Amino acid sequence: MIKVMKFGGTSVGGVEAIERTASIIQRESAKKVVVVSAMSGVTNSLINGLRERRPIDDLLGDLRERYATCANTILGNDSAQYGRELDLSLDDLRRAMEARYEFEVDHVLDDTISSWGERLSSLTMAHVLRARGVESVPLSSERAGIVAEGMPGNGSANLNETHRNLQQSVVPLLEKGVTPVITGYYGCDVEGRPLTFGRGGSDYSSSVIAYGIDANCCEIWTDVNGFMTADPRAVPSAKSIEEMDYNEAAELAYFGAKVLHPRTIEPVRRKGIPLVVKNSFDPDARGTIIRGQRTNGGDTLRSVAVKSDLAIVKVYSSEIVYQPSLISRLVGVISDAAVNSYAVSTSLSTLAMVIPSSAAEEVRRRIDALKEPQVEKVNVKSRISLICCVGDNLLNTPGVSARVFAKVAEVGANIELISEGASDVALNFVVPSEKAQDVVRAIHNTFIGG
Ligand code: ASP
Ligand code: MG
Repeated sequence: MIKVMKFGGTSVGGVEAIERTASIIQRESAKKVVVVSAMSGVTNSLINGLRERRPIDDLLGDLRERYATCANTILGNDSAQYGRELDLSLDDLRRAMEARYEFEVDHVLDDTISSWGERLSSLTMAHVLRARGVESVPLSSERAGIVAEGMPGNGSANLNETHRNLQQSVVPLLEKGVTPVITGYYGCDVEGRPLTFGRGGSDYSSSVIAYGIDANCCEIWTDVNGFMTADPRAVPSAKSIEEMDYNEAAELAYFGAKVLHPRTIEPVRRKGIPLVVKNSFDPDARGTIIRGQRTNGGDTLRSVAVKSDLAIVKVYSSEIVYQPSLISRLVGVISDAAVNSYAVSTSLSTLAMVIPSSAAEEVRRRIDALKEPQVEKVNVKSRISLICCVGDNLLNTPGVSARVFAKVAEVGANIELISEGASDVALNFVVPSEKAQDVVRAIHNTFIGG
């Protein structure tokens, strides 16, 4: 049995959290790879520090204080060696920051710097585990050989090359009974430079590593009891979901459930490795197991999530359907601008695209720049939210959409756009943001239980 165990920022965020996490790792008898995020808040302070050109001494001082205080409390007399390694790592960060401040923009260096919290967490966790008698080593993504490609801040793993490397760098350690603590959040490009997987990307790292070592299970340890039937802040009666299939979890993660980075599903799905989301603050709770096929029967509707801060960009052109190449040029704008799209819908004379509000003006500008003679006007409607209802029987249950939409009407929300049938397991639609929570509560209470 080989496991990957990933711990997020709150699970390594302070003395108590680190101790709790170390106990969870220690009691696990399987061979395991640990993957860690930065302590909560650290990635933000690195990114904001860079943006504001914060003095290097201040930033490093804060980081040292946060990590060393925790580690000294936990390690006590064993902390001298840790302190030396922490200082060496911070010296490297200082050099990266000095280089960064000399140039105006260097996205590769930005990724190097924003990944530093993960490096410090991996060092810290390995020392804490060693102090408890667990044979453990910190292992950076560089040394492990996690290969990434794509744009800085938005990399993707090259699974085949990563698999080849991890078979040589990680598997022999496991065979010797050593537990490597690997940095989440980034891999390295062909030149060996760090490339991050986007915010929250340590979940994805753990799935990539599970693929690379042919793990039997990938555990994501976070601060909630797995996937919920709705966001418990909006719906107090929300419950955790014991079992989901890969499709359901992928839809929910992309369309609003914040528990998991949406890209986490793909690498484990390819090898059929089960993914388990657990709560490090409540380790005995079951959490959610995600795998190819569920064993329990299908409920019509199992969870409802909300994606907020979206906008609809609507392009008017009287003959848009007769101009397929025009549609592809318009949709191409979204990919050129590296924007995620949440729904695309066409009619005879309009193309509507649902994208993050923050990108709407940029997309409009790029559409204007195409200077398409057939485009009559472009409208942007902001402050809309997408509601994502997930359930594997949704598409095969006659009347379910009508019942869902009847509830939406009851709370007086106007549906601005619908996307149904595209996914086998999800019914998505867009409502004004101020109505979104009411809609979620009404649907949850009716279909899942109040
Ligand atoms: N530390 C990174 C972030 O805050 C990656 C992660 O935690 O998953 O985005
Ligand atoms: Mg996360």
